[in-house]
Amino acid sequence: MAGGDPVSDELACLECDKAKDECGVFGIYGPGKNVSRITYFGLHALQHRGEESSGVAVAGGKIEVHKGMGLVTEVFDDDILNRLQGDIGIGHVRYSMKSNSVINAQPQVFRYPWGMVALAYNGNLTNSTDLMEDLSRKGVIFQSISNTEIMANLLARHYEGDIEEALRKVTCEIQGAYSLVVMTQNKLIGLRDPFGIRPLCLGDLDGSFVLASESCALNTVGAEFIRNISPGEMVAIDGGGLKSTSLTNNNRQAPCVFEYVYLARPDSTIDDINVNIARFGFGKQLAQENKVDADVVVGVPYSGTTAALGYAQERGLPFMEGLIKNRYVGRTFIQPSQKLRDLRVRLKLNPVKEILEGKSIVMVDDSIVRGTTSRKIVKMVREAGARKVHFVVSCPPIAHPCYYGIKTTSRDELIASRRNVEEIRHHIGADSLYYLSLRGMLEVLDLPEEKVCAACFTGKYPIDVSGCRACDNKSFSEKGC
Ligand code: SF4
Repeated sequence: MAGGDPVSDELACLECDKAKDECGVFGIYGPGKNVSRITYFGLHALQHRGEESSGVAVAGGKIEVHKGMGLVTEVFDDDILNRLQGDIGIGHVRYSMKSNSVINAQPQVFRYPWGMVALAYNGNLTNSTDLMEDLSRKGVIFQSISNTEIMANLLARHYEGDIEEALRKVTCEIQGAYSLVVMTQNKLIGLRDPFGIRPLCLGDLDGSFVLASESCALNTVGAEFIRNISPGEMVAIDGGGLKSTSLTNNNRQAPCVFEYVYLARPDSTIDDINVNIARFGFGKQLAQENKVDADVVVGVPYSGTTAALGYAQERGLPFMEGLIKNRYVGRTFIQPSQKLRDLRVRLKLNPVKEILEGKSIVMVDDSIVRGTTSRKIVKMVREAGARKVHFVVSCPPIAHPCYYGIKTTSRDELIASRRNVEEIRHHIGADSLYYLSLRGMLEVLDLPEEKVCAACFTGKYPIDVSGCRACDNKSFSEKGC
């Protein structure tokens, strides 16, 4: 299909042709500290996990919340943060392509006869449709399409005076990926699903416990990393300290490998593996697996840069910044003409003619989702005078959708679900195309396949997704956190 997918192309942009993490969470139990401001800074560090809405809730007697659509810096200002006073705080950043309503923004606060509770989570419940239908039959009316509301309703049904016990019972009913922070009026709770699909870690900020999706948020607020929350572990933090409970005897752990490819910030360490080091290793491994004849290695900024450095080092080739990303371009709107749409890509990425002209280039990117951006990049590099463009990708082909909280677009739109590597090469217009093998990726991570989730590459889902598949492209894509 030489002309590509016109509809997808129309909408393609540098951001929307990438997988999207759907949320980041943060929490602090910090009496005497400015918890709203600390949570704000924590969310700032997690902004890459969700740009659509941001929210902070604090507990100081009662629970107060402020949330809105937009980046953390757009939703909060000094006055708002000064108003949010308390001893405990949780925060959330969210991404979702479709349910772009503030009603789905988190944290969500619920009033029960026994007190208030705020919840925020990262992930997706794979049995949410069944749970929602079941609860609806029992008379529950939902205000949002967020899984958080499902969990809040289950919490109400199971609460008999002990929030931790109620949460334990909730985890017996929910299935899927979830890293959850829960705040009552006097307690902070963190919980990771039995497979540990989405990350969650624990830190210490001058004697106060902090929870965060990624360790970069701990670093940002000045907290010391203590450890990862284990799959199936619940930690409850209050004036008496921290209590850890294992809620599972599940032996099959499945942390998401795509966190290392693209989703997580490079300065984060997830489950004891530093993301930047993993990406460098992916690039080296890629160079061992695919040796192409080239003059220079160029990374697609910024997520392809570290793998490009690894590739260049392994091959003894120069790494050059042949594509420059404009750091100051925010969201751009769908433009009415092709010429303006092309200009939009140029606003974000600009090729350096002096580096590319007459050269055989190895272009390294972290992943290909729909292929639309890769094709634009190849075209741009050729127009800048590149003699050859060899496209190498630091993960295997993404051929299956994610049902665990990452929006990789629908199966039909995933180019690798319907085309082989040669067809994709032809589609993006490269001289050659190579992907990192799954075996190579797992070797770099030093993890066996049965200890990770790699389902978007293999189609082998560690948690049953039949409920999600039944509503594929409909309600699923609007759910998640
Ligand atoms: S399907 Fe892919 S993106 Fe989703 S959790 Fe598994 S590895 Fe991560």
